[in-house]
Amino acid sequence: MSLTTIPAIQVQKVAASRIHEVDFGNLVFGSEFTDHMFECDYKDGAWQNPTIKPYGPLEIYPSAKVFHYGQAVFEGMKAYKDEAGSVFLFRPQENLKRINKSSHRMAIPEFPEALFFDALHQLIELDKDWVKPGLGNSLYIRPFVVATQNGVSASPSDTYKFMIILSPAQAYYKGKVKVIVAENFSRAADGGVGYAKAAGNYGAQFYPTNLAKEQGFQQVIWTDANEHKYLEEAGTMNVFFRVNDTLLTAPNNDRILDGVTRKSVIALAEKAGINVEVRRVQVAEIVAAAKEGSLKEIFGAGTAAVISPVSGFSYQDEYYDLHDQPDSFAQKFKKNLMEIQHNLTDDPFGWRYSVVD
Ligand SMILES: *Cc1c(COP(=O)(O)O)cnc(C)c1O
Repeated sequence: MSLTTIPAIQVQKVAASRIHEVDFGNLVFGSEFTDHMFECDYKDGAWQNPTIKPYGPLEIYPSAKVFHYGQAVFEGMKAYKDEAGSVFLFRPQENLKRINKSSHRMAIPEFPEALFFDALHQLIELDKDWVKPGLGNSLYIRPFVVATQNGVSASPSDTYKFMIILSPAQAYYKGKVKVIVAENFSRAADGGVGYAKAAGNYGAQFYPTNLAKEQGFQQVIWTDANEHKYLEEAGTMNVFFRVNDTLLTAPNNDRILDGVTRKSVIALAEKAGINVEVRRVQVAEIVAAAKEGSLKEIFGAGTAAVISPVSGFSYQDEYYDLHDQPDSFAQKFKKNLMEIQHNLTDDPFGWRYSVVD
């Protein structure tokens, strides 16, 4: 194995920060961005010219392949600040591995690990004032890659842009969500790109999700594309079901996104002695459990909302209500995870990653 050297990041700082224009008490998720962004281009077979520069518009030709063929992948991660001012990431190696797995599936060249971490360190150090302390406050980190080659021939691009942008986020609790189980639409199919964080996976979800909203639901629980018999994901989150005191979730496969929150919940649950079954979960068994009262909870798991409890679900025009649990697993895992992320408790699994001391 040779040690690959990485190019040094050029840094252009803003003349004046915009931080004072931002109302940190009223943030809308993903709408404000920090002063700086990271940009790196792939051409002639190599990632080059890594730069940190003021956040602002890009100049890209309209024939760039990303606009025509959706050759694009992304990641979602967060930075958290403790009361002493140190900033931490949560299992960032998982995000690097996953963006490269997604890229591989979309015929995009992988991004070097050392450059990814160098970029995160320098960018977050520069914009660290945008990370506010306090449980629930965070800096949402959005790395992404887009195909930039000009020309509309349907083939993979030979140039790409890798970027990281940062958005301050607040604890948000929108209340519990009502969900509808998909009976016709699918998020992902066997042999497809469901396991990749490909941009188009999200675009394809918007229409069925809008239909669900028109019917009074906030999210769709996606079922398998072949038979719509198995429960797979909730909206853009992995999904868990608690039947009595057992936690059920679907196994990873090429239709399921291998979520960092999902695997962290499984690890925390197992450590707490909770029985976890990672297996295909049938719609029929969850409906039966709801009818007999053994279905205690359903919740989504993902970086943005951490844990998102579900208040009830609809299937075949029947609505099944879920009652609040006094010892809710959703609340327990949310608290557990957030306390680890914010450096408020021990980190038995070594998940915290210090990015600013
Ligand atoms: C990103 C994502 C998740 C959650 O993954 P985390 O790593 O926990 O943020 C789950 N499902 C889908 C479809 C996703 O895109």
